[in-house]
Amino acid sequence: MSRFFSTKYASLTPYTPGEQPRERKFVKLNTNESPFPPSPLAIAGAAKAAEALHLYSDPTCTPLTARAAEVFGVKPEQLVFTNGSDDALNFAFMAFCDADHPAVFPDITYGFYKVFARLNGVPYEEKPLMEDFSVRVEDYLNCGRTVFLANPNAPTGIALPLSDIEKIAASNPDSVVIIDEAYIDFGGESALPLIDKYDNLLVIQTFSKSRSLAGGRLGMAFGCEALIRDLNTIRYSTNPYNINSMTMAAGVGALEDGAYFRKNCQVIRENRAWTAGELNRLGFAMTDSSANFLFARHPGIPGKELYLALKERGILVRHFDTPRLTDYLRITVGSREQMEILTQTLEELL
Ligand code: PMP
Repeated sequence: MSRFFSTKYASLTPYTPGEQPRERKFVKLNTNESPFPPSPLAIAGAAKAAEALHLYSDPTCTPLTARAAEVFGVKPEQLVFTNGSDDALNFAFMAFCDADHPAVFPDITYGFYKVFARLNGVPYEEKPLMEDFSVRVEDYLNCGRTVFLANPNAPTGIALPLSDIEKIAASNPDSVVIIDEAYIDFGGESALPLIDKYDNLLVIQTFSKSRSLAGGRLGMAFGCEALIRDLNTIRYSTNPYNINSMTMAAGVGALEDGAYFRKNCQVIRENRAWTAGELNRLGFAMTDSSANFLFARHPGIPGKELYLALKERGILVRHFDTPRLTDYLRITVGSREQMEILTQTLEELL
């Protein structure tokens, strides 16, 4: 830390992203990326947009917003694009949390919520998940706090039924309820149809997983027009050009190729079921994941040991070294070939 660093941030512990090794080619199952390249339409769009990189990107994101409004069945005023959904989450902490509106989220969830809360000086409460890692819905009813829930949750993959999400939104009319649907395209039911009914509901999604654009950094938030205006106030006060031109064009291409998106989601669901079956056969216990990853533990081998043994053999998975998670590995569901390498290697190891 330099002697100039603001005391506001001196005690900040930054988020630790999953490893992105460049020096060795791993079977990379640690950051929930898609194993499939972007749609050819997305690639072509980005390449064409590169020709105009001397100009600023369009801060209104008009063509992308229009396309997304059609695809998702909302009004253009009900959505805003962000630099990955992390950007949307940060904006939500900035816009909808303060000392009078503290945040609440599960103790086991996406690690960035805590970082964003601290970055923005927002008080927060972490509600423990139940023994089986499910969310205790009662903890979020009438809670007088800005609610952040990942659905499906990470790293557990467990989804809450839409009826529970609706109960939470309905019981907190004076607080914003943010549903982070980074993994919704792989299972679970989106809360998007509820944004017309609840003016306190914000739904956040990403192009990073199901639409193969993690490196493009494209996220979006859906909500009533007033909530979206608030997020735009934050966006235009930080970086109106938060979406670069190539990503904007790639996003349009990705949305146009609905068939490619649906097929890839289907393959991931099939590969998830196949891998879960194999892991079961090898003695692993798992949560019931609706996401593009499995959350698994082997009763015979500590998580860290397995993580290191897999890494040595060229397979990267995610291990969280915290008391309740240390037995587990979070394994991204990749291509069938990657999953076969994983299960064969595990079989040899065990
Ligand atoms: N929410 C959850 C639950 C996630 O796991 C992630 C991915 N790490 C994100 C949001 C952010 O993804 P991105 O910024 O790539 O959209």
